[in-house]
Amino acid sequence: MVGETSYDVVVIGGGPVGENAADYAIRGSDRTAAIVEHELLGGECSYWACMPSKALLGPGNALGEARSLGGSRERASASNPEPSGVLEWRDTVTGRLDDSSAHRGGATHDDAGQVRWANGAGIEVIRGHGRLVGEKQVRVGDQLLTAREAVVIATGSTASVPPIPGLREALPWTSRDATNILEIPERVVVLGGGVVACEAATWLLDLGVRGLVMAIRGDRLLPRMEPFAGERVADALRARGADLRFGTTIEAVDRPDATGSGYGRLHGGPAVVRLTGDGAGELTVDEILVAAGRSPATTDVGLDALGLTAEGPLGVDDHLTVPGHPWLYSVGDVNGRNALTHMGKYQARVAGDVIAARAEGRELDDIRYVAGSDHAAVPQVVFTRPEISSVGLTREQAADAGIDVRVAEGEISVAGSYLLGPDYSGYASVVVDATRDVLLGATFVGPQTGELVHSATVAIVGEVPLARLWHAVPSYPTVSEVWLRLLDQLR
Ligand SMILES: Cc1cc2nc3c(=O)[nH]c(=O)nc-3n(C[C@H](O)[C@H](O)[C@H](O)COP(=O)(O)OP(=O)(O)OC[C@H]3O[C@@H](n4cnc5c(N)ncnc54)[C@H](O)[C@@H]3O)c2cc1C
Repeated sequence: MVGETSYDVVVIGGGPVGENAADYAIRGSDRTAAIVEHELLGGECSYWACMPSKALLGPGNALGEARSLGGSRERASASNPEPSGVLEWRDTVTGRLDDSSAHRGGATHDDAGQVRWANGAGIEVIRGHGRLVGEKQVRVGDQLLTAREAVVIATGSTASVPPIPGLREALPWTSRDATNILEIPERVVVLGGGVVACEAATWLLDLGVRGLVMAIRGDRLLPRMEPFAGERVADALRARGADLRFGTTIEAVDRPDATGSGYGRLHGGPAVVRLTGDGAGELTVDEILVAAGRSPATTDVGLDALGLTAEGPLGVDDHLTVPGHPWLYSVGDVNGRNALTHMGKYQARVAGDVIAARAEGRELDDIRYVAGSDHAAVPQVVFTRPEISSVGLTREQAADAGIDVRVAEGEISVAGSYLLGPDYSGYASVVVDATRDVLLGATFVGPQTGELVHSATVAIVGEVPLARLWHAVPSYPTVSEVWLRLLDQLR
């Protein structure tokens, strides 16, 4: 062992969540923090997930909006965006370096900006793979880091590839390839029907994929949302030529010349994919995209050194502390609560505040130290066309929880939506606790509805009574006036 260093806080994993945990744990104090990162500071979100995916979807969405109004329609007549411009915009967003290693298959990015931010916030960045080796001790190569106050596990998650005969051998694309796409396949089969599958299907069609088949195990897309959300996305994908096969999965794959050519490039020649279930059949495709869920990155973090299981999520209490280890925290995708950047960053703020309070000997008797929104008010926007946004419970989830509910719902048809285009199509619903007369959940579908969901989040977190919500007046002419239609139904 060469070096030994002490910090107040050591964070393993420098994604958005680890960065925030380190920042909030030391902000405004003389405490010290280090982030251990074995890849790129900024994590999955910055280079492989949220940012590139939204960059890939942006031009198609902008074109769709331009086409919905006379005047701009005539200037935006092409049905799809220009692929090279889309990829260039994606590269700008992810800070991708255009050097020769990209052509050898390594997707090369630049995290210098994130490192500058960390250093400016007083956080040291240590490159390498971090593993717990004992209480408050983390090993990185030949360095031993000792944490005086806390170790935070923020290692995120990795894409799961199910054990289907021939699938792993075929080197299928995962979300990292789809977001870092360099070569556009002609025919693709997508395994999955969740958020990543629906968003990726949208941008693959935008980029010119012609034969897109989705193999969806369940009977609808976006199964954790209100059914109308998945139905509208399914209609839109079908209208663009996608072949959606519900009740279907991949039974076997044969790709004789699979090659590891790097992220976003075709991983070999055509693959023969056998589908089983309601949409059974055999397909020949140029690429397979597996979007079948993610696994928390717990397997190689040294949890066994503490007698903790290294399988599945590293669970925590509402102070984000691992039970039985008051110095150990787990935030973001790795804890299995809500695999969303904003929820992980929320947990990181709570954990950072908890670490600071404990270090300063303060009681944890304030709601700022409790990650309660993880259970009741999780917002999410799906950037498909149409856009979907939701927060809190669906009607079905509320019923399963034994809550007596009232539901208001309907087409979004207000002056503000008409002004976005005469053919505007959108739908909204709210789920209300019939006993307490407060909002439990909301779902919006339609262009620009992602901006509506925060109003619902505020109403849910604030437990605003419907009688008072009636006095929150939406501006004319905005899509927010849909709130009036919904509240009218509940009076
Ligand atoms: C295609 C796609 C699109 C998405 N879009 C959105 C979106 O629009 N909005 C949204 O809210 N969420 C989105 N998500 C989810 C979002 O990406 C994750 O919730 C988020 O990245 C979690 O952040 P994290 O910091 O917990 O983990 P990560 O971002 O995965 O970061 C973990 C970091 O830890 C590092 N690491 C892991 N183990 C070690 C170790 N032992 N030593 C050192 N370093 C280690 C990794 O290299 C990585 O940098 C998307 C996900 C995907 C796959």
